[in-house]
Amino acid sequence: MAKNEFDIIKHYFAQQQLQRDDVALAIGDDCALVNVPADYSVAVSTDSLVAGTHFLADADPASVAYKALASNLSDLAAMGATPAWVSLALTLPTIDEAWLAPFCHSFFELANQYNIQLIGGDTTKGPLSITLTVQGLVPRGQALTRRGAQVGDDVYVTGDLGDSAAGLALILNQSSSQQYSANLVTTLVDRHFKAQPRVNVGEALRGIASAALDISDGVIADVKHIAQGSEVAIDIDVEQLPLSAELLAFCGEDRQRAQQLALTSGEEYELCFTASVANRDALKAALAHTNVKYSCIGKVKAGSGLSLLQLGKPLTWQLSGWDHFVETNN
Ligand code: ADP
Ligand code: MG
Repeated sequence: MAKNEFDIIKHYFAQQQLQRDDVALAIGDDCALVNVPADYSVAVSTDSLVAGTHFLADADPASVAYKALASNLSDLAAMGATPAWVSLALTLPTIDEAWLAPFCHSFFELANQYNIQLIGGDTTKGPLSITLTVQGLVPRGQALTRRGAQVGDDVYVTGDLGDSAAGLALILNQSSSQQYSANLVTTLVDRHFKAQPRVNVGEALRGIASAALDISDGVIADVKHIAQGSEVAIDIDVEQLPLSAELLAFCGEDRQRAQQLALTSGEEYELCFTASVANRDALKAALAHTNVKYSCIGKVKAGSGLSLLQLGKPLTWQLSGWDHFVETNN
């Protein structure tokens, strides 16, 4: 029976099946050692999840592990990086093996799937929180940043938008879910809890996309980062937003409501990226093998800020809850 911090590390964190060839020294020493191939850059990203802020303290540990790792993998995907190594700083109120066992099982399941190895971390006592630092490899000069969008480029997103927000609404308001089919509820709830980071898309977009990011705060909030980083304006046409059949059913076939959710839904783990018109065929060919759909939702223009259009004309309805959604040239 594991008892102290060292037993916990040995029994749980050092038990990953996957062992990468480029890890020279993993868990157990003062530092991990990894070998970086020549001509590659290491993409590094850290995210923290704090109980009570990012998840409920009594949330299912398997879901917490999935969310923590998936959101970090999504950041690597957005840079076009291939996942390689991860460190875990875990703060726990008590050594609770009934919590740790499903947490590690779920963590390693996802980590193995994406070929990323847990190489170290820290385990401390305190209010529950999880901090991950992921590292990925990208050929030097080929990382996808937020700064490369050019006037005239198309703006794209992967997958469907809005499902994660609908899933969260169903989770938070269980009673309302009774009016929907069990199938619809399961699909949307899974899209919230089990969204797939688009790692293979990020890799395929190297050399093709001019800018990219992952959708964590809603496409209208996130696309502004590309507009700012690239010093351009972006037009998004709400009629081009990809909406799932489940989302439309959830919204009672009210398209405008579905479009609102699609624009503002966070934690989608979909990628938003820009690419030149000249690269349309290359994009189609590169993404054909990923089994992930993508849709053109707008255009990069000269100027600054984000404008929402409907069938090419300025949007006539107000997006509720978003006062500053349109930033005209300033
Ligand atoms: P130190 O005192 O040198 O920081 P620790 O006692 O914190 O070492 O950790 C011992 C070893 O276990 C280190 O290699 C560290 O990276 C690893 N480790 C500690 N906590 C975790 C964790 N939660 N996940 C993965 N590795 C961990
Ligand atoms: Mg330590």
